[in-house]
Amino acid sequence: MLYQRSSALFKAAQEVIPGGVNSPVRAFNAVGGTPIFAKSAKGAYVYDEDGNRFIDYINSWGPMLLGHAFPPVVDAVVEKTKQGTSFGMPTAIETEIAELAVSMVPNIDKIRFVNSGTEACMSAIRLARGYTKRDKIIKFSGCYHGHSDSFLIAAGSGAVTFGTPNSPGVTEGTAKDTLLARYNDLDNVKTLVEGNKDEIAAIIIEPVAGNMGCIPPVDGFLEGLRALCDAHNILLIFDEVMTGFRLAKGGVQELMQVDADIVCFGKVVGGGLPVGAFAARNEIMNHLAPLGPVYQAGTLSGNPLAMAAGLAMLKSIHADADLMTRLEAKTKYLHEGMAQALDKNNITYTINRIGSMISVHFAETAVTDFDTAAEGNNETFKAFFHGMLDRGIYIAPSAFETWFITDALSYEDLNETIAAVEDIAKTL
Ligand code: PLP
Repeated sequence: MLYQRSSALFKAAQEVIPGGVNSPVRAFNAVGGTPIFAKSAKGAYVYDEDGNRFIDYINSWGPMLLGHAFPPVVDAVVEKTKQGTSFGMPTAIETEIAELAVSMVPNIDKIRFVNSGTEACMSAIRLARGYTKRDKIIKFSGCYHGHSDSFLIAAGSGAVTFGTPNSPGVTEGTAKDTLLARYNDLDNVKTLVEGNKDEIAAIIIEPVAGNMGCIPPVDGFLEGLRALCDAHNILLIFDEVMTGFRLAKGGVQELMQVDADIVCFGKVVGGGLPVGAFAARNEIMNHLAPLGPVYQAGTLSGNPLAMAAGLAMLKSIHADADLMTRLEAKTKYLHEGMAQALDKNNITYTINRIGSMISVHFAETAVTDFDTAAEGNNETFKAFFHGMLDRGIYIAPSAFETWFITDALSYEDLNETIAAVEDIAKTL
């Protein structure tokens, strides 16, 4: 493959944009090499500026559940654009998408739309703090909830500990209110709760993690968190920015039959436009301004183009009875094909999968949390990534990301992917 134009564009971008990108993972730092510049995309494919075609397993990091340039979404946005792009006034379509979302997701009465997953999680935490009148939160190592200060926290030493900032610019004062727990380790969470009695406002979790590869919760973990939260009047926040409207129409709450108190959305809910949302029961949501004292706002929140894209997306998902079954079948097919290809070549690996999320780890042991994800062989992953790219398969440029399966993928695309894995496996 030739990447001449991408290389030239990256060079030019680096002059005027920090690192040449508007979000760091796009820079390929974890895998080396020059990022490819996208020109267009349709269905399961993304095309770069050099004219290369890739089967896309990133799908804009999740939103494109139904494929790129999905006609109902494109048509809805084009039509809406002709009527004006933003008003800063309420619009009918905001209620329409809110009604549909509330009807699809269990256990929520009201939803507020924002512009990103980061904003959704940041606002959810503020709401939880305002509602409980407590300051501390628990998050899990390896879970990502966007880049607001409270979440850019690394584990300190010791089991019961305050977090420490993991980015300059995050203050110690902020970090002390975020406690770090191990994913899939209920006892660890219990210890934190016991050590901070009546101080914890919320536990926030990706109920299926997708930011350390794909890591489903072990049996009883989410149920255990629910019981712990009930016992200590702590709010349980499910960050379903990745999983919402993807792993089930109602997200992980529906899939695993565990209720959260606040749910955060992003990605799929915006159909590829900048949208996030957070939702809860009336009792909690009525604390938000203008009804209640917890402030939260946005000039472009509920933007008509974004709402049109999101509404078209949710309507398509809602109307498609077999969608989740099709997605899961494709993911399973890919899993089994890749496993066979890797086995044949005696490669050590672990593949995690649930619904339409899947990740390949070059690790010897089961990958169940951040530490076990970090044990994967990064050199092997880099070679795998570049091998896939050269064969026209675009997977996430980091071993700590999930792949997203889209409904637009055909079994031919999956076979092409499996053949590429088999080819690369010989060289790993
Ligand atoms: N929460 C989760 C689970 C995510 O995966 C992401 C982004 O990848 C976010 C929050 C932040 O969303 P955004 O990038 O839209 O701000």
